Amino acid sequence: MPDFDTVILRGTVVGPTGEYPMDLGIADGIIQAIEKDLSGQANHEILAEGCFVIPGIIDSHVHINEPGNTDWEGFETGSKAAAAGGTTCIIDMPINSLPTTINAEAFHKKKEHGENNCLVDFALWGGLVPDNIGQLESLWELGVIGFKAFMSNSGIKKFPCVDTTSLKKGMKAIAKLEGMVLALHAEDDALTAKLSKQYIQSGNTNYTDFLNSRPIEAELIAIKTAIELSGETGCPIHIVHVSCAEGIDLITEAKQNKVDITAETCPHYLCLTTEALDQWGAIAKCAPPLRNPFAVEALWEKFRKGEIDTLGSDHSPCLDVMKKGEDFFKAWCGISGIQHLATISYSLIREKTNWSLLDISKLLSTHPAERFQLPRKGKLEVGMDADLCVANFKGRNSISSEGLYYKNKHSPYVGLHFPFQAKETLVRGRSVFADGTIQNNGRGKFIRFRI
Ligand SMILES: [Zn+2]
Repeated sequence: MPDFDTVILRGTVVGPTGEYPMDLGIADGIIQAIEKDLSGQANHEILAEGCFVIPGIIDSHVHINEPGNTDWEGFETGSKAAAAGGTTCIIDMPINSLPTTINAEAFHKKKEHGENNCLVDFALWGGLVPDNIGQLESLWELGVIGFKAFMSNSGIKKFPCVDTTSLKKGMKAIAKLEGMVLALHAEDDALTAKLSKQYIQSGNTNYTDFLNSRPIEAELIAIKTAIELSGETGCPIHIVHVSCAEGIDLITEAKQNKVDITAETCPHYLCLTTEALDQWGAIAKCAPPLRNPFAVEALWEKFRKGEIDTLGSDHSPCLDVMKKGEDFFKAWCGISGIQHLATISYSLIREKTNWSLLDISKLLSTHPAERFQLPRKGKLEVGMDADLCVANFKGRNSISSEGLYYKNKHSPYVGLHFPFQAKETLVRGRSVFADGTIQNNGRGKFIRFRI
């Protein structure tokens, strides 16, 4: 009997302490050996000469719309795109499917769809909405990795935002559920609603008006409230898609004051500016919105200082038609980015900082695995799941619409070039993407919180 199912030979392994020329042996979906000149027989060999072997990306912020809105995005198409980009585990947000993942029944439906259709591993966020506080404990028992709430209008009727009272109640309840984190979309509803109404009522509905309706100030008000309530209730929080340096400052200060808080940003806030809206229109519409070049540079400064904990794609897909029309306020709010989280992050961070690949892998793999307690995931070490990506940094690989695997093929990244290229992606040792082709063999597994 062979010693390994798969060996990856002659690559540079990005392990827990650095980058080393090593071979890596896999059996039963687990990393069994990381050694120089690994001996032993294997069923399958991957030659990784000139490539890096990096931990599989954990995209802790994706919106898969299945069940219910699968024509926007499904587990199958979304996870193929993930696999093509080196992502081995996605964590799905509770908002965009029907039903929304706010109770046990909805959780079971979501999980079943994922188990049937998701190519990579997946975990689930549960939702916190004003009237489901009684459901949180059962969602926790079922294995969600945390909860998500909106502090401003989510755009989805079945997922209303929380006000300060319901947020505080929810936080009190979540604080009692061991290990749970509350992820927050932090923009102040009162301010964004007031400004949006003013612009819409006066007939000013182009993208500049939209940008002006969602100022940095709205983020700061909400982040301050979240920090205050977290301090009061002891509920750990994770502020998703922070778009501005000032927001990171508040979070860093809260960390110093012992608040259990982490910050996520997304590739689009690091890679694109408001200029993308001029080029792409609503395809580049998201909330919080893209910021001006000075704000983006300021966010990079925070990034370089290590003040951001995780990177997620915030893949928020929709039908192509929902990105069209004269009224910018009516267009769907969200950027489709599941396929390019690693491509953009590894390429740009390498270019704009002196970080090692190990440093970068922490934001994309290790930190999400630790913060959301995904067992055996997040780093390349003997005994961990063999979730990895064989990648190189060669040339300038162009992003094209034809190369997109997700359902509705729009992207504000089309035409951009990046050196990072995923050559092969393995989920627990199973190849899901190799040499430009999806390997449609088998399905991912539901990853339960902690166990
Ligand atoms: Zn999101």
